[in-house]
Amino acid sequence: MPEPDIDVLVVGLGAWGSMALWSLASRGVRAIGVERHGRGHSLGASHGGSRMFRITCLEHPGLVPLARRSAELWDLLGRQAGKPLLHRYGGLLIGAPDSAVAGGTLAAANEHGIEVEPLSRTQLAGRFPQHTALAPDDIGVWEPSAGLLRPEASIRAALGAAETAGARIFTGTEVTGIESIDDGVLVHSPGRTWRARRVVVATGSWLPFMTPLPELRVVRMPVTWFEPDGDAERFRLADFPVFMRELDGGTVLWGCGADPPYDVKLGLEQFGATAVPFDPLDTDRSVTPADWTALRAALTGHLPGLRPEPSRVAVCMLTLTPDGQFVLGSLPDAPNVIVAGGDNAHGFKHATGIGELLADLATDHEPRIDFSFMDVKRFS
Ligand SMILES: Cc1cc2nc3c(=O)[nH]c(=O)nc-3n(C[C@H](O)[C@H](O)[C@H](O)COP(=O)(O)OP(=O)(O)OC[C@H]3O[C@@H](n4cnc5c(N)ncnc54)[C@H](O)[C@@H]3O)c2cc1C
Repeated sequence: MPEPDIDVLVVGLGAWGSMALWSLASRGVRAIGVERHGRGHSLGASHGGSRMFRITCLEHPGLVPLARRSAELWDLLGRQAGKPLLHRYGGLLIGAPDSAVAGGTLAAANEHGIEVEPLSRTQLAGRFPQHTALAPDDIGVWEPSAGLLRPEASIRAALGAAETAGARIFTGTEVTGIESIDDGVLVHSPGRTWRARRVVVATGSWLPFMTPLPELRVVRMPVTWFEPDGDAERFRLADFPVFMRELDGGTVLWGCGADPPYDVKLGLEQFGATAVPFDPLDTDRSVTPADWTALRAALTGHLPGLRPEPSRVAVCMLTLTPDGQFVLGSLPDAPNVIVAGGDNAHGFKHATGIGELLADLATDHEPRIDFSFMDVKRFS
């Protein structure tokens, strides 16, 4: 057998795969990226124009160092791309003091020394009057280091930077099989087979098809935009930045404002009720009013001033794990196969840090982040 002509092949160039390819190529690793669809497409988990960035990660204390490192790398990628990718407008978390959203943010900030500004109910109502019908015990937490990422532009920036650093990219190419061999892997597509030392499989919601990970569950998540009905300026992104607001019973309303034409992006997390099981091979992304009825009802009381019918609706996919943590690392039975998935709806902000971590693993470098709580081996 000839020597592998590639050090690392990355399958799937969405958020995590594109960042892994950038990190690999930047270190001089001979790397190839293979993507079934196009750059920054709208069939996976990384579309819809915006994603929230915050350091006060509620999902696991170990994610805070990852978010901090990711912020540095977002700035670096932005410099290489010639335009900032992480826009630090700040972020607002609202809920009762013991809620997961507001209370959890304060706890994470205290534990990790993250600068936040607690807002009393009166301060919150004065500073963010868009939010009405606050509960009597609601408070706000303002995180100045939070902000907004543009997912499609970020993926394109990473792929561009990876190419500049020497990576080769194949889009419109589906990987149909991965075979372990003595000193590496064979990666098959309908037209050709590559031989590589390592493969990084970052296929998002399609990961269950490529790896033996029955723990992963794929769901469908609608995202909705509403136009202001009247004073549109109050929904400018700078005045109405990314937010999460915990309502009665733990339902979370999330979203952000926009620059002209001011379409306000919103979503509702109701104990997973808006996220129903979905087959990732189904390319039908059509929507029905059932996708926004509950959200519209929540807006009437809590965010007045928006038209009742959405101006746009998109459908994204999420991949859930039983413990809500990501799945990363070498497969126990196939050490040259490194997987990355189980995004649990909070993985975009970490994409640059995860890309670096995957590149570390693929090149036998000690990761700078302790990822034991995300290690795929916890399922074996
Ligand atoms: C509605 C919604 C809101 C969210 N909000 C936030 C937020 O505010 N903040 C945050 O941090 N995170 C958020 N997330 C989560 C975040 O968007 C995801 O964690 C992230 O996009 C996951 O990226 P990924 O690379 O795992 O998947 P994807 O970006 O879907 O990439 C997987 C890629 O693999 C490719 N692929 C699959 N199979 C193959 C194959 N066989 N051959 C070749 N290519 C293949 C796919 O085409 C795709 O491009 C949100 C997610 C959703 C759905």
